[in-house]
Amino acid sequence: DDRIARISSSIRVIPDFPKPGIMFQDITTMLLDPVAFKDTIDLFVERYKEKNISVVAGVEARGFIFGPPIALAIGAKFVPMRKPNKLPGAVISEEYSLEYGTDIMEMHVGAVQAGERTLVIDDLIATGGTLVAAINLLERVGANVVECACVIELPDLKGRDKLGGKPLFVLVN
Ligand code: 5GP
Repeated sequence: DDRIARISSSIRVIPDFPKPGIMFQDITTMLLDPVAFKDTIDLFVERYKEKNISVVAGVEARGFIFGPPIALAIGAKFVPMRKPNKLPGAVISEEYSLEYGTDIMEMHVGAVQAGERTLVIDDLIATGGTLVAAINLLERVGANVVECACVIELPDLKGRDKLGGKPLFVLVN
């Protein structure tokens, strides 16, 4: 698909952010290119529009950029998976490990019903810990997590192997 090349080249790499040794994949430059941004959304919509998905769950913060336009286009609801103490209603929480220490992800109780076919979206998979936390939260309320989708995969980190066999769809390696 020749749209992939434009998407790939629209992503900027910033060395040593947020700390030395990290090559940060910056998707904000893709958002400055309306063709690349639209192609990104279109590729996801083409994949998910006929899959009976009723929930798009987006991971804070960059899953909030890609998730809502996909949800609107496929006729699904959008559910934010947030950092702790941000959501005002009753939540369920999941602790997960980062490179150093742990973090917590939260989701509103009642946002997703048991059995709902759900897509999890984020901008990038590195170690996979973030997507695993999202999958766990959704499965705790009985959701059927059909697939995870990211714009970018860092394949050397083997995050894909942590998803317990859950399919992962990515646009760019
Ligand atoms: P993981 O939990 O898979 O190790 O890390 C993925 C999470 O960290 C995602 O939510 C993603 O947004 C963020 N992340 C880690 N590295 C990068 C990066 O280089 N670029 C961007 N845009 N996000 C990153």
